[in-house]
Amino acid sequence: MSANIGNQNFINNILKNNNLDAKKKFGQNFLTDQNILLSICDASELDKETAVIEIGPGLGSLTEHLCNKAGFVLCYEIDKDLIPILNDNLKEYNNYLVINEDILDIDINEDINKYLKDYKKIYVVANLPYYITTPIILGLLSKTKLITRYVLMMQLEVADRICGKPKTKDYNALSIAVGYRCNAKKMFKVPRTVFIPSPNVDSAVIRLDLYENPLYNAINEEHFFKFIREAFSQRRKTLINNLSTYYNKEFILKMLNDNNIKTTVRAEELSINDFVLLDNYIIHNYNL
Ligand code: SAM
Repeated sequence: MSANIGNQNFINNILKNNNLDAKKKFGQNFLTDQNILLSICDASELDKETAVIEIGPGLGSLTEHLCNKAGFVLCYEIDKDLIPILNDNLKEYNNYLVINEDILDIDINEDINKYLKDYKKIYVVANLPYYITTPIILGLLSKTKLITRYVLMMQLEVADRICGKPKTKDYNALSIAVGYRCNAKKMFKVPRTVFIPSPNVDSAVIRLDLYENPLYNAINEEHFFKFIREAFSQRRKTLINNLSTYYNKEFILKMLNDNNIKTTVRAEELSINDFVLLDNYIIHNYNL
């Protein structure tokens, strides 16, 4: 079916005719470039055996393409004012459902079992509300293994951090929290000019593919995620200085020596595997 929602005139008219402004508090920046919408779908590699979860369908620019390419689209939209407009924009389609809820409050596994159990693969594809990018990603990754791919538009700096590699300025606790479970890849940049209204930042689309067999095995994942935040708490300090706020300094020195890591190391020099080794060492040897 023809795509027409994600066009500048269409979006401007819809907002005007419904007497609506994009709501800043919900991070509303509507995408208005058909080529970018299609590139997001291409990056997702969709087929009719795949169900997509879309976070924040807004006026349906992306949803329309997702309905064309995927088997089913389950959308979560927090803004109840947009729901009747969205349903009207998508009236040609019968393979989607919009749930008027906050994505941070849902029970994702329950909803997948309820609505998507007939689909072979479940992906998240979304132009995210940027103000909650990190809690959305870390929340879903920790709550479910049923979603095996995430194709997400977000602020460029956050995309760079998530895809950051050791020994670069972008590498931090978020790169490790995501990289622990997924292969993260930056797909393409998106200029601020293709949104209504135009945000103050540029954007990028990234793809996260969940590892089928985990690459890393932290004995206590909850502690591991806390540990990486502790390790990066102050970027300019050495690992010992950051960790000594939380653990006994002699213990940290022994831990680094026992794992053949130099005592002057900074967190950004260590790989995900190093962090897993260190955290497992703490779990085995420290009286938490
Ligand atoms: N997908 C649309 C597009 O690309 O034009 C809109 C994207 S806009 C950046 C983010 C969308 O997320 C908005 O529709 C906003 O209302 C919605 N949203 C914001 N916070 C949300 C939340 N906590 N749960 C669900 N949707 C949310």
